[in-house]
Amino acid sequence: MAREPADEALPFDDEPAPEVAPEPAPRKRRSRRKAEGSTESRTRAASVDPAKERVRPIPEPVNLRGHGPARVLALCNQKGGVGKTTSTINLGAALAELGRRVLLVDFDPQGALSVGLGVYPHQLDLTVYNALMERRTTGEDVLLKTGVSGMDLLPSNIDLSAAEVQLVGEVAREQALARVLGPLLPRYDYVLIDCQPSLGLLTINALTAAHGVIVPLECEFFSLRGVALLLDTIEKVKERLNPELKVEGILATMYDARTLHAREVFSRVVDAFGDTVFQTVIARTVRFPETTVAGEPITSWAPQSPGAAAYRDLAREVLARAD
Ligand code: ADP
Ligand code: MG
Repeated sequence: MAREPADEALPFDDEPAPEVAPEPAPRKRRSRRKAEGSTESRTRAASVDPAKERVRPIPEPVNLRGHGPARVLALCNQKGGVGKTTSTINLGAALAELGRRVLLVDFDPQGALSVGLGVYPHQLDLTVYNALMERRTTGEDVLLKTGVSGMDLLPSNIDLSAAEVQLVGEVAREQALARVLGPLLPRYDYVLIDCQPSLGLLTINALTAAHGVIVPLECEFFSLRGVALLLDTIEKVKERLNPELKVEGILATMYDARTLHAREVFSRVVDAFGDTVFQTVIARTVRFPETTVAGEPITSWAPQSPGAAAYRDLAREVLARAD
């Protein structure tokens, strides 16, 4: 049997695969179907929830005897609004609930991570920027405790945008964040870096300081656009700056199992990336925007909510992957 053109489609191909033996259909209907992805994914996703289908038991995390050295994970996607900051806060809080010591790094000049933890970035005297740019300021000097026991924060504000320009002229400009984090690693089990939505020098610094990358991906058709470029950048950093770096996992966010569209996008992501995709998916719910206003993680704002449960599952998956 001849292979269907849909099978040949590249994972990152934004152009939907051509329809096989298209039947004459009204114009409107066809264009909607065209935007909905490959025939294969469509057929499968039409009948089942592809996220539920993949769920397997997650191993119970072990109790720790001591702490550190930390595993550093960068939450990275150059697209904005895909759930990087939300995932950094809530994965961090869920890891802390499991007894891990966690350091969150706000590495976006917007300071959304800091705000999401109830910190007002414009009122800060010292931020990550100072630790990056000034010899006499250490990460320790900048460190803040959060409302979550066991979870600390290196906050940021708009000052950090200047670092992007100022670092260009520095020696070892890609290693600036790694230098700041180095002395802190023995005290923590996880460091999570919330990246800004770009692949500029700050993000390269995060990738250079990290052991692994978590890529939050919104379950929406155009979200696949740009993932190839991101993976390419990760590969280059690995070759040139940080041989240890790996893609820790791809996290599907803002998933709405009721829509065929989200189910299909998720199927395509799994077709393309297989087991790299976390089985935990983060559903779309208004509880997350609420937590930003509250300035705390969902695990304490709405501890019994499905969103809190999802980030707890993700934390257990992340722990299982590090073993
Ligand atoms: P990023 O850091 O990638 O720009 P954010 O985490 O800030 O993305 O999320 C963008 C917006 O979407 C925020 O207003 C956030 O509250 C909201 N959001 C994040 N995750 C979800 C979700 N699972 N369901 C609904 N809204 C979400
Ligand atoms: Mg963000």
